[in-house]
Amino acid sequence: MVAPASFENVIGGRRVPARSGAILESVDPSTGAVWATVPRSDDIDVAAAVDAARAAFEERWRPVPALARAGHLRALAETIRANAKELAELETRDNGRIIVETTLFDLPACTEMLHYFAGAADKISGDTVQIAPASFNFTLREPIGVVGIIVPWNAPLSIACAKLGAALAAGNTVVLKPAEQASCSLLRLGELLDDAGVPPGVVNVVSGLGEEAGDALVRDPRVGRISFTGSTDTARVISARAAASLTRLHFELGGKSANIVFEDADLDAAAYGVTAMSVFTGNAGQTCIAGSRILVHESIADEMVERIAAHAGGVVLGPPLEDATTMGPIVSAEQFERVRSYIGLGQEEGAELLIGGRSGSDLFADGSPLARGYYVEPTLLRAPHTDLRVCQEEIFGPVAAVIPFRDDDHALALANGTRYGLAAGVWTQRLDRAHRFVRDLQVGAVWVNTYRKIHWAMPFGGVKDSGYGRDSGMESVLENTQLKTSWIEIG
Ligand code: NDP
Repeated sequence: MVAPASFENVIGGRRVPARSGAILESVDPSTGAVWATVPRSDDIDVAAAVDAARAAFEERWRPVPALARAGHLRALAETIRANAKELAELETRDNGRIIVETTLFDLPACTEMLHYFAGAADKISGDTVQIAPASFNFTLREPIGVVGIIVPWNAPLSIACAKLGAALAAGNTVVLKPAEQASCSLLRLGELLDDAGVPPGVVNVVSGLGEEAGDALVRDPRVGRISFTGSTDTARVISARAAASLTRLHFELGGKSANIVFEDADLDAAAYGVTAMSVFTGNAGQTCIAGSRILVHESIADEMVERIAAHAGGVVLGPPLEDATTMGPIVSAEQFERVRSYIGLGQEEGAELLIGGRSGSDLFADGSPLARGYYVEPTLLRAPHTDLRVCQEEIFGPVAAVIPFRDDDHALALANGTRYGLAAGVWTQRLDRAHRFVRDLQVGAVWVNTYRKIHWAMPFGGVKDSGYGRDSGMESVLENTQLKTSWIEIG
């Protein structure tokens, strides 16, 4: 038996285990076998990381001219490019997202977005404010100091790079806590910082449990901002824990996004959009913007179900490291049980199982190592209305509900009838309809005749229980700054 790979924290430019020596096991979700260990850090490790980040901020990052910061970001981008194959494989092994996606999308995106943020570093500016001839009034945008970044398991590298790029470009230093299920690619990125010439302590990576390492980071009063992607429930805990030190918070949270297919849509494009682009994805629907509610005009509902079934039938579940696989497993045993329970719950609530529903050993021959993996096949339920829990709660798996609607007003009411507000898709050929829905949908992002397209130059985030603040775009850089106002009396 091969010994599990072993990873360490990166604090102040040095690779170190947790001070206690404790570790967490990382499981390959395609087989259920332990493949790596990572440090189980506690408040002592996190305090050391914040010490390092604080010292680096004062001594090695804040004094650096913006163009030099940009140079470090570009070097990091190119180091990621040079190590993309290894990083993609680590991430795929750790969280089960298919290698085709980590290789073709996530890793190139990490490189490109760090170049984007490098370009932003010297474009941060304040304003002059003309009040009266006798004074000179202006604002400065300053870095906040140490930024804590907490990321989930579904896309660790790309989510972390978006947050890192914005924080570093604005002149902050960082302590990054990956998710317990998928820390390896980010701990390896931590090792590569030295190759990239990033000064020690500017970025520190500390793995561990959310309620231990994550909580210690949130409560450390020297951390000026927490940028978090994860669940709404955890965001509520973080809000309460950060209250004592009034830490700035940025939350990119869950969703229950609607994909709305009108009778005038290009149905071939829509069928692809609501399946492969949305919820029957390479990472098995484990995406905050999964279009898990498919709202379809009643006149085309049966036709759309047939088309969705055809796409679902073409999905290839298999080892995520193989190019032929189009959908990988669910990340962990816990999430696997959670997704399966929703399939059962939906039927108990009165939804009809139209497609899929099988999981685990039902899907693979006896003796296949994948039979012990956390696979769920693409699953579609027909829901009579959207009050069902499967239509209101984030499932985070390849499970969607199709819900027929009568007219535009009905579609809008259904789409907005959730506590979440992350994203929505609209499939129509009518320009007036597209604009009305972009205007009236209560979400942070609307796609028209496409879905789940994210770009580092476009701000991304939610409204309602999907959070506040934005990743990507210049907005994310500015959110990593604090304003200073100056009034110089001239006389
Ligand atoms: P969490 O929100 O618990 O985890 C996200 C990150 O927060 C992880 O790094 C986690 O660490 C950390 N964390 C957990 N508790 C705390 C805490 N008290 N203080 C600071 N950090 C903390 O998501 P889960 O992994 O538990 O997934 C549960 C559900 O959340 C999913 O089924 C899905 O519905 C939703 N989710 C949404 C995501 C999104 O992209 N919007 C991403 C992931 C999940 P640790 O891993 O150790 O718990």
